[in-house]
Amino acid sequence: MRVLVAGAGISGLAVARGLVADGHEVVVLEGADGPRLGGGAITLWCNGTAILGDLGVDLEGTGQRLSALSLRTARGRRIMDVDLEPLTARFGSAPRVIPRGSLINLLAAGLPDGAVRFGARVRDVEAGRDGVRVRTATGAEYEADLLVGADGVRSRVRALVLGDGPAAPTGLAIWQGLTPAPFDPGPTTTLMIGRQADAGFMSAGNGLMQWFFERPWSPGDPPVDKPVEMLRRRFAGWGAPIARVLDSLSDGDVELFPHTRHKVPRRWGAGRCVLLGDAAHAMPPVGAHGTNQALEDVAALTACLRAAPGPAAVVDAYSVRRRRRAARASMVAANTLAASGPRALMQSEPMMRLLAAVPSRLGAPGFGRLLRALSDRI
Ligand SMILES: Cc1cc2nc3c(=O)[nH]c(=O)nc-3n(C[C@H](O)[C@H](O)[C@H](O)COP(=O)(O)OP(=O)(O)OC[C@H]3O[C@@H](n4cnc5c(N)ncnc54)[C@H](O)[C@@H]3O)c2cc1C
Repeated sequence: MRVLVAGAGISGLAVARGLVADGHEVVVLEGADGPRLGGGAITLWCNGTAILGDLGVDLEGTGQRLSALSLRTARGRRIMDVDLEPLTARFGSAPRVIPRGSLINLLAAGLPDGAVRFGARVRDVEAGRDGVRVRTATGAEYEADLLVGADGVRSRVRALVLGDGPAAPTGLAIWQGLTPAPFDPGPTTTLMIGRQADAGFMSAGNGLMQWFFERPWSPGDPPVDKPVEMLRRRFAGWGAPIARVLDSLSDGDVELFPHTRHKVPRRWGAGRCVLLGDAAHAMPPVGAHGTNQALEDVAALTACLRAAPGPAAVVDAYSVRRRRRAARASMVAANTLAASGPRALMQSEPMMRLLAAVPSRLGAPGFGRLLRALSDRI
């Protein structure tokens, strides 16, 4: 089958890997003029790394293998330490923190030469009974049996196929980056939770640290010229590691990503066009499920294509297989951190300290249940 993929992000390259392995002829159309390698590091849970293993992507030696999660109050008091090793043993695949650019390079390296066309921004799509035709912004035309829209939170393919707008802001944003580590966090991700905000840091391997700060934000907020100063002010009084992270930063290190969320649709496409990754289910980065869910999409779509009698039959089977778990992940991502209201009060120091009464030994089984509820793979 000839397949066009719109977007050479993690979703587009990963699905291209799966489709090529199944013998399909794949062309990836990327709007940018070259690979987009920025955007810090991402956390891949046991499901994400397992699916990448199925795709033949060897992560050994890339990024940082994760062994534990440490939950803290804003002041730095311990809430819970979650040992991830039992989950690695149970699911057969370890969680990892990986620079986004490293993962893009690993995925692209397994594709045939010329499979990715840069400077090819999808503008129009015409889907008929016998095939799909795509026109790019430069006027180039491509034909295929199936189009996979993996073109992110402002998906053009989604707008054309489902007729809705880009993912909407949720009222929060993340200020984040990947920089030389001011101290060694080891194989542990630390997440500190306070009223209306959270902050965290983790190793991404090679002496690099991924760090983030989340707090309320709206599109009308004035641009911040000096983000480090703003973060120092907003996160003053937080536990000691936060000041150490902030002291190591300069303004150019900080990237702002507004949280956005798309309704997870009932049907993930129409006819010969399907949606995948953020184009299907943009969700806030809280809990780190976006890429993991995109990889679940890849596993489901390739499996559905193997079973479907033809490309036009795949949308229904794929939508049924994916929508419940993706919607659950989106709900978890949207409801874990509150910008306002009573749920934000629950994140205050005294309320968070109450949670410390929950024994740490319950952490791994609880987190394992969550991962299983969000995955078809583990
Ligand atoms: C700050 C932040 C931190 C995150 N951390 C994590 C994490 O730790 N763990 C996790 O699982 N997830 C995380 N996520 C979510 C994760 O980044 C995404 O869910 C994941 O990368 C899937 O992206 P994608 O490939 O679907 O879209 P994108 O990465 O946006 O890629 C889309 C690609 O399509 C291209 N494109 C756009 N329009 C067109 C067009 N019309 N034609 C052709 N090409 C086009 C773009 O240039 C881009 O290359 C995070 C997200 C953010 C914002």
